[in-house]
Amino acid sequence: MIITGRTRIVGIFGDPVHHSLSPVIQNAAFEAAGLDFAYVPFRVHPGDDLKSATESVLALNLRGVNITIPHKVGVMEYLDEIDPHARAVGAVNTVVNENGELKGYNTDGLGYVRSLVESVGFEVKGKRVVMAGAGGAARSILYALLSEGPASVVVANRSVDKARKLIEEFAEGAEGEFAKTLGSVEVTSATLDTAFLATGADGADLVVNTTSLGMDSNPPLDITLSGLNSGAVVSDIVYSPLETPLLATARALSFAVHDGLSMLIAQGAVGFELWTGAKAPVDAMRQAAEALLGVVGNRR
Ligand code: NAP
Repeated sequence: MIITGRTRIVGIFGDPVHHSLSPVIQNAAFEAAGLDFAYVPFRVHPGDDLKSATESVLALNLRGVNITIPHKVGVMEYLDEIDPHARAVGAVNTVVNENGELKGYNTDGLGYVRSLVESVGFEVKGKRVVMAGAGGAARSILYALLSEGPASVVVANRSVDKARKLIEEFAEGAEGEFAKTLGSVEVTSATLDTAFLATGADGADLVVNTTSLGMDSNPPLDITLSGLNSGAVVSDIVYSPLETPLLATARALSFAVHDGLSMLIAQGAVGFELWTGAKAPVDAMRQAAEALLGVVGNRR
């Protein structure tokens, strides 16, 4: 990559940022697409630094930035405009500098739904969904899933109150198209306990893990998959390891699997497209991420 005075700079604000895969994924994408862009990680400490860092997007004429932990909520007060999806989710992970106006987006859920279509050909509309987890990632994914008009969604969380609150919040704040779609979806909460793990996924078309269960040294999400509908997809947003125990079980039962890297790439692809206006080269992005993670092969 050759950086000149013409190169458009984008980056990521977070603390920490050293572990982020985004610089590798986005720089590979710019190279594959032949675009004169470069992506740089910036460690931004919590507190006043976030305000000045966000202002610097304009001062330094950056094209935009990704926002990661712990700034996804805090950055919102420094932006000129926030798109409806990000506002409903209550977090921004992508900022675009549109001629001096900072616009905030949340690409996690959009990327999630897009990657379901692109990676495993799964359309959410009319389907029965079981989602484990009600944390930060679940918020964006749930909003995006509900926007697609599934037949039903069960949100199962260890602390059921969090799942209930999330559903209530979306129902109370629903407006426009989202409100119309939500009206036709059966959305319920459940406790992610032994009884739910035994039978809660029966009859589902999509099971998605948005908890940290299955991640590296954590115990797996041990949910029974044998009662899923035929043609069902099992999805895990955890990407370390890429093949979680949940996905290994699903694969052994011959269900289609959708891994966490697919979502990570797709949310980055949405950001890439917002910054550049060009179609994201997702294959090159995935290859770069897999090389970094030391993954052999190109499983989807
Ligand atoms: P978070 O806000 O801390 O939420 C964690 C969720 O996991 C909560 O629902 C929590 O339940 C549940 N949980 C944690 N330990 C549990 C246990 N022992 N048993 C049952 N449930 C448990 O985290 P997050 O930001 O949503 O991230 C969740 C996972 O998604 C992480 O592994 C993260 O790396 C991954 N992620 C992937 C992507 C991607 O692009 N692929 C993007 C974002 C996040 P309680 O509410 O009951 O505590």
